[in-house]
Amino acid sequence: MINPITVRTVSDLRSHLAKWREAGESVALVPTMGALHQGHLSLVALAKTKCDRVVASIFVNPIQFGPREDFKTYPRDEAADLDKLAKAGADLVFIPATAEMYPQGFSTHVKVSDLTDDLCGAARPNHFEGVATVVAKLLLQCTPDIAIFGEKDYQQLLVIRRLVRDLNMQVEIVGGPIVREGDGLALSSRNAYLSPEERKTAPLLHKTIHDVAAVLAEGEGADAAAEAGRFKLEAAGFRVDYVAVRDPATLKPLSGPVKPGTRVLAAAYLGKTRLIDNVAVPPKA
Ligand code: AMP
Repeated sequence: MINPITVRTVSDLRSHLAKWREAGESVALVPTMGALHQGHLSLVALAKTKCDRVVASIFVNPIQFGPREDFKTYPRDEAADLDKLAKAGADLVFIPATAEMYPQGFSTHVKVSDLTDDLCGAARPNHFEGVATVVAKLLLQCTPDIAIFGEKDYQQLLVIRRLVRDLNMQVEIVGGPIVREGDGLALSSRNAYLSPEERKTAPLLHKTIHDVAAVLAEGEGADAAAEAGRFKLEAAGFRVDYVAVRDPATLKPLSGPVKPGTRVLAAAYLGKTRLIDNVAVPPKA
């Protein structure tokens, strides 16, 4: 096992990248907020199949958190993360301080409109502006050939694809499949907040959207299926932000019967923990 190079400044990042570029090597970037789990590590594994060098970034981005959200308490464990990234075979880990990313006087923000109007964008004002800004910076700092993001944050993945297209960035955005616990719960750094009781209830989020997708595959209308899903989650004690049936490319709302590939997305609180998940509608059995 070779420990990855750890850098904390953009100029150090660029000098390592320049050496690789000179040698003709391709580079993949996997941006994260740390507190790494198998979901993150699966993206590193995917990156290794696609490029010669893999850069992972760890940065808990303050500007994507709302004032009443969990920025201060977000789990952080740099030593454990570095160990996991070494085992996963990352070549370099970029861990900038907040002042490196947002120096005094920082005043440029990237806003992707339309796609961010609802779902998590409605529940978390400014969230996607914070995400788009930090991802644009990371892509410009690293100039990777590809950057990999999880389908777990499906709306985020589409926002980043749109950002890259609209700003003509020369990078391929690759989506990685959702990694789940054995009981279906999507891995998330925020799962650490769940009490033992909440952890038992949490897999119902996935089960519910999976069931919504199954009835949609059988021809049930989108509105009725989504409403039934919301009802089931509320009955189990979730505080539901949304259960939504959306076009997989535009996230536009759909009603009535839908095609395979249509996305079912949900966000719901269990106690203080906000969980999100999504699945595709399968082909008719
Ligand atoms: P985060 O650290 O939460 O910002 O996530 C960093 C990247 O990992 C994002 O692209 C996420 O979509 C992705 N990710 C988080 N959880 C999972 C998961 N369970 N499966 C696949 N990718 C994930």
